Amino acid sequence: MSIEYVSTRDPKQKPYDYNFVLMQGLAPDRGLYVPNNWPKLSEQDFTTMWNLPYIDTLVRVNGLFVGDSIPKEEQLAMANLAFSSEKFPEAIKGNIVPLTEIENGLFVQDLSGGPTAAFKDMALQLLGQHMKHVLGSSGDTLTLLGATSGDTGSAAEAALKGLLGMALIMLSPEKGMTEFQKAQMAQLSGDNIFNISVRGDFDAAQKMVKDLKEDPEFADLGAVNSINWARVAAQAAYYISGYIQAIEMSGAKFGDPVDFVVPTGNFGNVFAGRIAKKLGVPIRNLVVATNENNVLHELIQTGTYRKRGNRAIETTSPSMDITNASNYERELALDIFPDDPKSVRSYMETFEQTGRVALSEFHLADDTLRKHGFDSGTSTHADRLESIRWTHTKRGIFIDPHTADGITVARQRRFANPTDRTPVVCMSTARPVKFEETMREALGFAPERPRRFVGIEKHLFEFATIDAGDLSALAQHVRDHQA
Ligand SMILES: *Cc1c(COP(=O)(O)O)cnc(C)c1O
Repeated sequence: MSIEYVSTRDPKQKPYDYNFVLMQGLAPDRGLYVPNNWPKLSEQDFTTMWNLPYIDTLVRVNGLFVGDSIPKEEQLAMANLAFSSEKFPEAIKGNIVPLTEIENGLFVQDLSGGPTAAFKDMALQLLGQHMKHVLGSSGDTLTLLGATSGDTGSAAEAALKGLLGMALIMLSPEKGMTEFQKAQMAQLSGDNIFNISVRGDFDAAQKMVKDLKEDPEFADLGAVNSINWARVAAQAAYYISGYIQAIEMSGAKFGDPVDFVVPTGNFGNVFAGRIAKKLGVPIRNLVVATNENNVLHELIQTGTYRKRGNRAIETTSPSMDITNASNYERELALDIFPDDPKSVRSYMETFEQTGRVALSEFHLADDTLRKHGFDSGTSTHADRLESIRWTHTKRGIFIDPHTADGITVARQRRFANPTDRTPVVCMSTARPVKFEETMREALGFAPERPRRFVGIEKHLFEFATIDAGDLSALAQHVRDHQA
């Protein structure tokens, strides 16, 4: 039987296939789609994957979640397009998710060698291909509306640029993105890609996306943010590759535990790690690394999920300036309230209405998430600068400020447990080229740019601008630019 998905909030557990959840994004009851029956990899599968190139591992793992919705040969062809050497030009020997050891047993896994220099390419490149395939066999068109705080925008645009039958309208806040990030989006403007600047912050832009979709005229707009199941499903494979590389490089054997430290805000990337673990990868801890917006750190350590004020604090790891961790709802459905969508809904509604919810209100221990293998730490601007310098001094490599939050937390844990020999892999979520100002602050200089990004700021394109909350202006732009 092929894999099926249900909404985290649906008491009837009505099942849908992969193609449906791919195109739909959020469920109509505002829940998120999760598998109904979780697949598992056998020891034989792991033995086979041990020597496979990343793309083949990806197709095996992702194929478990695509099921019969797309024929296997076509899944492989699409993965080859999504992760080609043209798109990952700096990859050595085809390894687009390589590990580097920084000090004994502490590794960084590079996930950001794709077209836009952030790990979001690892999922969105494939998502674009899958969506195109689904449309191709139906003759339909798809218009997607998204909001970005920086990296999702360019990654989604690079993935969907020029794809037939599809249009992408992307909202970005007037302030907050780096010049590099703006130039990346400007470079991709045109054809089926339309950028709109909102006079307001990211939350205001995100709210306009949600509000417009409540209008029946726009109910069918697709989603590219990580509420889309296909995104987190596509990310699980690099944990398997990371595990295999960490075991090989540390001289351990299959079955030995590995910890992953994940810079995250939306719980998306770390949930992809939870998926890998559910498939049977011997991961011990999944460690959430937050910046000053440490909602998830508090949640994991105290059991209380608490929103802070109306908006996130602006930090120098801006892609993690998030106070509402959408994908945490998937973790609720998987581990906290299994087979109990009513409790998921009640927990989430309490949070949405009051800005605060504790596990104890549901008769669960405060350390429930830690019992399920999660752990956490938090980092500050000063920590980021120090971790950038430390990594550069140790190994001569440059990490970006988000990865630096991860390295900070990984080092705190190693310092607290000096005899623990478990290998630790820290996910590197972006390239320093996107955040040169902070690199300069840390090192006194910015690392040399990869050739493909030299001079990108010449792409200065005027985005259309609308006021925050002006839904009729947004509606008109969507009508004018839909597929
Ligand atoms: C999006 C992003 C993150 C956070 O990803 P989650 O989906 O919240 O896990 C971290 N670092 C960078 C560079 C990003 O672009």
